[in-house]
Amino acid sequence: MYFHLLKKIINDILTEEFHGLTWEEKQEFLAKVVAKEKMPILKFMCWHQLNMIHAGLGIVSVFSPSTVEELQKVISFSNEFSLPLYPVGLGSNLLGSDLDCGVLVLNLSHLHYKISHPLPKEQLRISCAESLPRLAHQLLSLGLGGLAPLSGIPAALGGALRMNAGANGTHVGEFVQAVYGFNLLDGTEYCGKFSDKDWAYRQSPIPKNILITAADLLFFKRNPTEEKAAIQKEHMRRIGCTPKGHSAGSVFRNPSSCPAGKLLEDSGCKELPPCGVFQVSPEHANWIVNYSGKPGRTEDARKLVKQMQKRVADKYQIQLQLEWQFVPQAEGNAF
Ligand SMILES: Cc1cc2nc3c(=O)[nH]c(=O)nc-3n(C[C@H](O)[C@H](O)[C@H](O)COP(=O)(O)OP(=O)(O)OC[C@H]3O[C@@H](n4cnc5c(N)ncnc54)[C@H](O)[C@@H]3O)c2cc1C
Repeated sequence: MYFHLLKKIINDILTEEFHGLTWEEKQEFLAKVVAKEKMPILKFMCWHQLNMIHAGLGIVSVFSPSTVEELQKVISFSNEFSLPLYPVGLGSNLLGSDLDCGVLVLNLSHLHYKISHPLPKEQLRISCAESLPRLAHQLLSLGLGGLAPLSGIPAALGGALRMNAGANGTHVGEFVQAVYGFNLLDGTEYCGKFSDKDWAYRQSPIPKNILITAADLLFFKRNPTEEKAAIQKEHMRRIGCTPKGHSAGSVFRNPSSCPAGKLLEDSGCKELPPCGVFQVSPEHANWIVNYSGKPGRTEDARKLVKQMQKRVADKYQIQLQLEWQFVPQAEGNAF
């Protein structure tokens, strides 16, 4: 009964049938409904508020569960009404939709995961919400380390595992012992165990329909002073090489033959005119930046991406593969 009411409210609010109410009043009304049922917080937000490059003008309903129990309720709700769920970490690699759509967004930044049993030494169970930079620092007090090469990646663990985020010749998959989560298509629990060879450059073996809630990671014993120095060194390296402006990281994966940035630069992509608030960074041809920080249309960014892809394809007959994630533009299964 409650789920039906919630679905109706989401529909009505998105289709503006709550005539006469301001956004604040709509939010307030909604907060009362979800609080009554102990559902996680639900908010209506614009996609551009959920990603670092500020792309996507569409409105979505965003659930922020803080416990696994709350998360399970949202999954049941999505399955009962076939409303696709789209997980979001720190939003450092994704661009939203320009359309108001029925996708439910799961903001996992508040999800805490209880460690149910002590794990063997040097192994920790980490919540998908934990950010890589913070985790690298937290390990210091435990005399553990190994994460310094990845400590500058602005990622939550869930997003990092989905993308197999990497830097300095290391990738997050190398630390993984087990991944926990839920199958978003039927709500069943998931546990995946992988070996090193299952992970590849920016490719994760975790099935697309799995929502990652936590993972067991194996670290190394490290001298805290040396590890802290390595984190600081990586921080300084990043400051020196990260293009200025809001971004979503590298646009394309590097083909095996040559770095994407070189192909894009040699194809003249830095000279492409801006599309809306987005432009190719003059510092790095594989980065699109939003200097203004103002919300932009994802469609504009997509246009720029296509022009870049075409220039490289025309000149080198190489089809660059996207590293960026575009969220689904319309209602439908997110996978
Ligand atoms: C300044 C900057 C520097 C960057 N440097 C690097 C770098 O050095 N190396 C690198 O690899 N990347 C880099 N990136 C890209 C980005 O940080 C990584 O891809 C990162 O892994 C994304 O993590 P996130 O938490 O922000 O995920 P999001 O961008 O929020 O999401 C990325 C994808 O993961 C999915 N996802 C998120 N959470 C979950 C979950 N819990 N379960 C299942 N799926 C989930 C989302 O649905 C989406 O498809 C950089 C980005 C920026 C802006």
